[in-house]
Amino acid sequence: MPATSDNPANPKHAWAEIARASAPKRLPGERIGDYREIYACFDEETARSQASRCIQCPEPLCASACPLTNRIPEWLGLIAQGRFLEAAAISRLTSNLPEVCSRVCPQERLCEGSCILSSKTDPVAIGALERFVNEYAFWHGGVEVVQAPPNGYRVAVIGSGPGGLACADELAKLGYGVTVFESQPLPGGLLVNGIPAFKLEKSVISRRIDLLARRGVEFRLGVTIGHDKTLADLLRDFEAVFLGVGAQKPKSADVPGDQLTGVVAALPFLIQKNVDSPLMEFPPVDVTGKRVAVLGGGDTAMDCLRTAVRAGAQSAVCLYRRDLANMPGSRKEYANALEEGAEFQFLTNPVEIVGNAAGAVAAVRCVRMELGAADASGRRKPRPVPGSEFTVPADIVLVAYGFDPVPFPPGSDLAQVTVNDWGGIIVDQQQMTSVLGVFSGGDSVRGPSLVVHAVRDARKAANSIHQYLSVKS
Ligand SMILES: Cc1cc2nc3c(=O)[nH]c(=O)nc-3n(C[C@H](O)[C@H](O)[C@H](O)COP(=O)(O)OP(=O)(O)OC[C@H]3O[C@@H](n4cnc5c(N)ncnc54)[C@H](O)[C@@H]3O)c2cc1C
Ligand code: SF4
Repeated sequence: MPATSDNPANPKHAWAEIARASAPKRLPGERIGDYREIYACFDEETARSQASRCIQCPEPLCASACPLTNRIPEWLGLIAQGRFLEAAAISRLTSNLPEVCSRVCPQERLCEGSCILSSKTDPVAIGALERFVNEYAFWHGGVEVVQAPPNGYRVAVIGSGPGGLACADELAKLGYGVTVFESQPLPGGLLVNGIPAFKLEKSVISRRIDLLARRGVEFRLGVTIGHDKTLADLLRDFEAVFLGVGAQKPKSADVPGDQLTGVVAALPFLIQKNVDSPLMEFPPVDVTGKRVAVLGGGDTAMDCLRTAVRAGAQSAVCLYRRDLANMPGSRKEYANALEEGAEFQFLTNPVEIVGNAAGAVAAVRCVRMELGAADASGRRKPRPVPGSEFTVPADIVLVAYGFDPVPFPPGSDLAQVTVNDWGGIIVDQQQMTSVLGVFSGGDSVRGPSLVVHAVRDARKAANSIHQYLSVKS
């Protein structure tokens, strides 16, 4: 009889007898026909047996590598015993969006990358198990909608991305009256207006927002702070403010030809194809039967490639100036992109977008790169190989070179919040900005980062807001 979580020959060595399983994944041919999530959840039996692979390290490296210090071995132990609701409750103690992080975290660089089993075999499938147990809790009514007794204080949260949602959740649990102001008509920040539905279905976010609303969080949509309301208005009506305004100003290609017809910024393209009713003024981008070149090597580039494939592109090729080892995008999503037919040209730096007589994109002129010495960040610096220029034919160029914070609206009193040379909001150890009572976190402070980092900052800021108001009272 094979070892399972019920009959492990030796529970400490279940990992040697049970191979790592991945969450069920739809076949590429099927999944490129729609925008739905490609992974499903483990069934209960698989979840128990996969969780039993954890050897319950006394000092778990997975937990230290998780930005939220999730209590991973504890909930894995409970999953192995079939105590799913208890496991989910512990998972929720350290994370406000476990059903989201489990879907979008680059686990290979975080929790799973540090699993001790990696030195001998495959790591525990932490992400898939976190997803299973939190979905199980939602399906079985195990996610409570408890409204804490009001403590008399009100906090304004600006932005409804993962940072804003996590901060609102933490504060609502402590009895604060929380109002979230969001400039877009749909709440969720980049979870909705960015990350494609095939990685994170929009219903997962609306379910979470509905839960927050039922906990008493008020959402005011279509309100831009700095334009429709001032910071002074907020500081008059609320005792503290959290700025979770993200970083969504696209970096341009900054090469000759970057204004040609057919050169498109990544985010509007992704929103147009992935959001059901995108309320945005942006001309439709039709990639059907076209050759699409994507510039960049991060998560956004990967998402553009996979979206272009789904939208009927003849080809979708990523042009990235470093090699695979130095590419910032998630390895899991790189593999998914390859399976779906995307192509990658590494060590390829676009130097010009070439137009045709009609002023539309015809090709991307590139230069081959080689990697030199590591820079301050530890990544090897690319340099051009002399005389190596070549062209890649293209009809559409999607620019995915990353983002900077959007400057505060001109003349707005938000300008009193001190920012650094690239526009990032400067915060102290407590996440407080230069303005007393105004806190910040997530991409607006770090620059483009990860969902799990926004959640971490927001939890810290909520805790600091609580300390600040406790001392003030
Ligand atoms: C295409 C794409 C794919 C990504 N994929 C992944 C991934 O797979 N895994 C991962 O971990 N991370 C991924 N990320 C990064 C992740 O989405 C961000 O790090 C995260 O969303 C940042 O959260 P945030 O709350 O700081 O900001 P955001 O999610 O950007 O939310 C900020 C919100 O503030 C609102 N806002 C801004 N200014 C105002 C104002 N003045 N008044 C009112 N509202 C305002 C904005 O409309 C927005 O809704 C991806 C990003 C992109 C663009
Ligand atoms: S939040 Fe991310 S890093 Fe932490 S356990 Fe979950 S998937 Fe891993």
